[in-house]
Amino acid sequence: MANESMKTGADLLIDALQKNGLKNIYGVVGIPVTDFARLAQLRGMKYFGFRREDAAVDAAAAAGYLTQKPGVALTVSAPGFLNGLTALAQATKNCFPLIMISGSSERHIIDLDQGDYEGLDQYNVAKPFCKAAYRVDRAQDMGLAVARAVRTALSGRPGGVYLDLPADVIGQQIEVVNGEDAGIYEVVDPAPKQAPSDEAIERAVKVIKGAQKPLIILGKGAAYAQSEELVQKLVADTDIPFLPMSMAKGLISDEDKHSAAAARSLSLSGADVVILIGARLNWMLSHGAAPTFNPNAKFVQLEIEATEFDSNQKIDAPLQGDLNSILAKLVPALEKTDYHAPSVWLDAIKAKVDENVAKFAKRVEAGETNAKFGYYGALEPIKEYFLQHPDAYLVSEGANTLDIGRNMVDMKLPRHRLDTGTWGVMGVGLGYAIATAVETGKPVVALEGDSAFGFDGMEMETICRYHLPITVVVINNGGIYNGTDREVADQPGPTMLDAQARYEYIAKAFGGDSYFVSSYQEMKVIFAKAVESKRPNIINVQIDPSMGKESGHIGNLNPKLDLKK
Ligand code: ADP
Ligand code: MG
Repeated sequence: MANESMKTGADLLIDALQKNGLKNIYGVVGIPVTDFARLAQLRGMKYFGFRREDAAVDAAAAAGYLTQKPGVALTVSAPGFLNGLTALAQATKNCFPLIMISGSSERHIIDLDQGDYEGLDQYNVAKPFCKAAYRVDRAQDMGLAVARAVRTALSGRPGGVYLDLPADVIGQQIEVVNGEDAGIYEVVDPAPKQAPSDEAIERAVKVIKGAQKPLIILGKGAAYAQSEELVQKLVADTDIPFLPMSMAKGLISDEDKHSAAAARSLSLSGADVVILIGARLNWMLSHGAAPTFNPNAKFVQLEIEATEFDSNQKIDAPLQGDLNSILAKLVPALEKTDYHAPSVWLDAIKAKVDENVAKFAKRVEAGETNAKFGYYGALEPIKEYFLQHPDAYLVSEGANTLDIGRNMVDMKLPRHRLDTGTWGVMGVGLGYAIATAVETGKPVVALEGDSAFGFDGMEMETICRYHLPITVVVINNGGIYNGTDREVADQPGPTMLDAQARYEYIAKAFGGDSYFVSSYQEMKVIFAKAVESKRPNIINVQIDPSMGKESGHIGNLNPKLDLKK
């Protein structure tokens, strides 16, 4: 006789997540998902409880980026869901695979607008902010719902998926005959490989072969795709210089002689053939337009999403597919031609690199002795530490902190730097840092501006509760951009924050370590010690409040008004 047992929707959801190799959940519990989280823990999943949903969903997104499996986030209904929605949208913009699961009200109450505790039509609200939204209305559909979410998050251009989980479905019981799979299965080949045609490869080779001044731009898509081996071979074979976008740093070591990072303007404006590898010609690359780019440049783009081609510039050689499949065809095809970047171009870049590196070194040196303690003095010890310990991870946000840190801190290993991403958004730092520590087990440095830290500073409690080896560095210049601009005599200016704030005490409140530094010499001693303690800690780095440029390096995006009128 068949042995029958009952399973709830919650049971089936856990079955389905586990069947697909998803082991961690990042979330905030409450009605109606509390018992679901308890059950997940009892059934062997790891649950990480946060203080606010956006940080939890950011964490899941970072987990997805680092592991090529969708990160899983959990929130309560309406407000919890809405708090998570920003992070779901960010993950989708960043092309990070993520499944955000939110408990929701029962359909009949919502659909007749009867008014419910935290009642909202979440499924329809989520749609514009993610790759796809699904709602599972019957417990028996749980396996299919998760399969669909996994497939959607990972296939093609990765992104965020919303899974709506009505309260009644969580507890709904279905009969499962022993040995039956109850519709739970592992998705087969969730991100199928796609290679471009021979014709497309030939076209690209022809364009590249004609290049006098070729340039490779590496984006975070290449980091996500884990294509470092083939990208390194491409550059080594052809000597084509490369520029890494911030999260692509380390795909090829920043120390590599082919890096044109220190000659960014020259290489972008000079290049006659630009090879985009997992990078979009969006605002961060001035939409591929002159004067940043040479108006006659030809573009070769390696990209999984065909509609990305021609989004800003004519793409002369589109190569659609997943990067490793494209590169597996392109690299040998180029090798056959024995193409090498012309030495005149390489020499011009090298001369500019040498010039700029020398200038930069002077600036850093001055930062060590400057009477006013600023960004360069504060960040030099971090730069040095990462040179010696390239396997540590760096998460960074803040305007000036982000911009100056990006130029200063070299990365030698792929996916070791996470930052504000495609939207340039603040408030992702601690969530990203938590997931990075959880997923990699390595020490993580969260390098934060004082304003950026404010968005999710309470996650320090989360960091301490899970005893994560995270050093939060708060570069405190007392404000958004800086802390000195007062417009009206007796009121703090709009950009002003507390320049005397003792952010480090937040760590102490939760059992972590607190450090305060206000000079280069102190930072030099404290930073390495703090990271190596492998304990949760905050270093409050009090720099001069006059340090910091309005909007960092993107001041041109901030409309200027005549404030004297
Ligand atoms: P960055 O901000 O570093 O320039 P973007 O996020 O703008 O990078 O671009 C990343 C691009 O990589 C996106 O257009 C995305 O579709 C693409 N991408 C992501 N994963 C893959 C993959 N496996 N193969 C090919 N392209 C990918
Ligand atoms: Mg600041």
